[in-house]
Amino acid sequence: SNIVAIVGRPNVGKSTFFNRLVESRQAIVNETAGVTRDRNYGKSLWNGKEFSVIDTGGYVVNSDDVFEGEIRKQVALAIEEADVIMFVVDVEGGITDLDQAVSNILRRVEKPVFLVVNKVDNNQRVMEANEFYALGLGDKLYPISGMNGSGTGDLLDDVVAAFPKIEREEVEEGIPRFAVVGRPNVGKSSFINALTGVDRNIVTDIAGTTRDAINTRYNKYGHDFYLVDTAGLRKKAKVREDVEFYSVLRSVRAIEEADVCLVMIDATRGVEAQDVNIFNLALRNKKGVVLLVNKWDLMEKDNYSVKQFTETIHERIAPFTDVPIIFMSAMTKQRIFKALEVAVEVYQNKSQRVKTSTLNEVLLAAVEKYPPPALKGKFIKIKYVTQLPSPTPSFALFANLPQYIKDPYKRYIENQIRENFNFSGVPIQVFFRKK
Ligand code: GDP
Repeated sequence: SNIVAIVGRPNVGKSTFFNRLVESRQAIVNETAGVTRDRNYGKSLWNGKEFSVIDTGGYVVNSDDVFEGEIRKQVALAIEEADVIMFVVDVEGGITDLDQAVSNILRRVEKPVFLVVNKVDNNQRVMEANEFYALGLGDKLYPISGMNGSGTGDLLDDVVAAFPKIEREEVEEGIPRFAVVGRPNVGKSSFINALTGVDRNIVTDIAGTTRDAINTRYNKYGHDFYLVDTAGLRKKAKVREDVEFYSVLRSVRAIEEADVCLVMIDATRGVEAQDVNIFNLALRNKKGVVLLVNKWDLMEKDNYSVKQFTETIHERIAPFTDVPIIFMSAMTKQRIFKALEVAVEVYQNKSQRVKTSTLNEVLLAAVEKYPPPALKGKFIKIKYVTQLPSPTPSFALFANLPQYIKDPYKRYIENQIRENFNFSGVPIQVFFRKK
């Protein structure tokens, strides 16, 4: 989907605005169970168009005395990652030096830029907002109030209308698309080179910038698959790869393009916060996941290390632990084909449809064993289960009083599904509906 980035100096109200954009969406779509909300990344929907919103401010130091350098990085990142940029300024503060600095960069950008004047809560301020035309960012600005929402509708009408037509490459349906994602230097390129036998550093000279993700098809080792490669543009990147917190943002587009994400971590570093963030980003997008623990060749092994490492990973990624973990080395090529094979399996798990009769047999027995607890003296009866015809596995359980069923019971049902069918590496959704 399209990506919209929010930029602007601290305290202009970016996060209030961000919340407003993603919250309306939250009400419609249930979040995948157990994935905590990301403060800086979310999905939104307007005029039937779904898009991702990134609050780039959340990824940099957000204090009043923020350096211009930080803002520059934030903006460079937004330019690189987003299709559309919303530049938020504050009508109360007037034009500041930082606003000026950001404008100077954005004026030269070829992507659509929307100047959003925030905190316009009354008519008086609508007039004051006009001051920001002086920034020279085109002949239209958007006075809004992130607080009460006024003006955001008109803004979004224009934003979604400005989305570039995504230049879809011919991607054949039914062939899995894999993305290798992870922090810088975990070994992503090494792995892809080892797997494909191609040094991708020499194949990534792309003319133009419209194609941000490149699907390259491979037929190797008996498997037919695409690799989603967003590295081409990285090489030209102005933002340095070693800035840790940007690695999450950099993964967004690749993750969205993929069916299954191969989330790579560095065995010598253990599981770090950004690894978990990238993992969660994949889950939030309801993608299949395989965890690759790379550089395993550097580890001193005894009989327990795999077990210990697995336990540590589970602690960090809980509650969603039904994920295949491959201990591998891109350098010695240990288990790199295994990684590919397991990714194909996860793709199949994700695509499977469980027969309704089997599903009912298994789950109604589980319900009979542990029925949902009665609430306010009312008994809850679950009568029928079906897998919905959605692109990612979703199950609907029909009950007389679905509103009384609580999260722990939902988790029980999810576990039963996982125990009886193979959804390893796949986020699933469970809904309770009125029979
Ligand atoms: P990327 O930024 O994730 O694409 O990481 P690279 O593939 O560029 O690898 C970063 C560094 O780790 C390079 O110096 C690689 O040679 C090294 N490296 C990658 N995979 C392995 C591995 O399995 N074992 C060892 N020992 N080094 C590795």
